[in-house]
Amino acid sequence: MQLTVDLRSDTVTKPTPGMLEAMWSAKVGDDVFGEDETVNALEQKAAAIFGMEAGLFCPSGTMTNQIAIKCFTQPLDELIADQTAHVYRYEGGGIAFNSGVSTRLLNGYRGIITAEMIEPEINAENIHFPHTSLVVLENTVNKGGGSCYTLADIKPIAELCKAKGLKLHLDGARIFNALSHTGDKAADYGQYFKGISVCLSKGLGAPVGSVLLADKEIIKYARRIRKVLGGGMRQAGFLAAAGIYALDHHVERLKVDHSHARILGEELGKLDWVSNVLPVETNIVLFDTVQPAKEVLAKLAAHGIKAGDTDKHRIRFVTHLDVHAEQIEYLVKILRDEF
Ligand SMILES: *Cc1c(COP(=O)(O)O)cnc(C)c1O
Repeated sequence: MQLTVDLRSDTVTKPTPGMLEAMWSAKVGDDVFGEDETVNALEQKAAAIFGMEAGLFCPSGTMTNQIAIKCFTQPLDELIADQTAHVYRYEGGGIAFNSGVSTRLLNGYRGIITAEMIEPEINAENIHFPHTSLVVLENTVNKGGGSCYTLADIKPIAELCKAKGLKLHLDGARIFNALSHTGDKAADYGQYFKGISVCLSKGLGAPVGSVLLADKEIIKYARRIRKVLGGGMRQAGFLAAAGIYALDHHVERLKVDHSHARILGEELGKLDWVSNVLPVETNIVLFDTVQPAKEVLAKLAAHGIKAGDTDKHRIRFVTHLDVHAEQIEYLVKILRDEF
């Protein structure tokens, strides 16, 4: 029997019945007036989880990241990030457009950068140079194949930023995947970062939304930036309710997605038409194929399996809450028998 398996992204999930129930019954108000109690509850809950003062609910992770960059820089500044960074590669050039800021790119290992790599790239005070004011880390790293920073990796970077007067922002679109893998505590994150973006619509399965976390002053300004970007929403509590439900019910289960990804990584490693599998840490599996990736994808599609290519010979599988054990079994069988 043919099954459908969609491994293109962890954004393709649909709300579960329990989540829909929570959305239906949400108490709402006009959030632009600050009167949506469900949005307020989500913002406070997310902030408390990460040991931050306040939160701001936004329609997307792109918006939370771009608002953070706007809050932490001035035009003519420069930020430092890895060359794979989502904020640089996949946010449409928003750093330059929204903030008038240039980007200094580093060559990390699978997107992971270190204090030693950052320090020499901080510009000296000199009118020739843009003023370095911000470092952005991503955890997990999307383009790194779900690779993770531990808090022990982050600590020296945070110390360097503090010593040099730089702000540190976390693009935590998949931060809960990182926490599930490393065993670090969310509450310990707040002390290291000025800003944290948390995505509710990736592995956590909410239909829409990200939360920006920071101190109260920053969030007050961030609310102004969200408005000017057109991100002030009215009865957004229906969406925030999905986010609260996701935080309550879909964090623990990320380890299921990780075990599914691990199984796929192990099986792919045994196949002679697969030349390389990157180490699987979380819910993303990157692997290289002998045939062109497009040909492999077409063959998979014929069996109801959707995936993406990230290079001529590289394919990406992303596991999530709508991929169940029987679909993983089915996929493994197809990978073994049909190629
Ligand atoms: C998906 C993602 C985002 C935000 O994406 P939106 O689609 O705008 O919500 C930000 N950073 C990373 C690393 C991502 O994977």
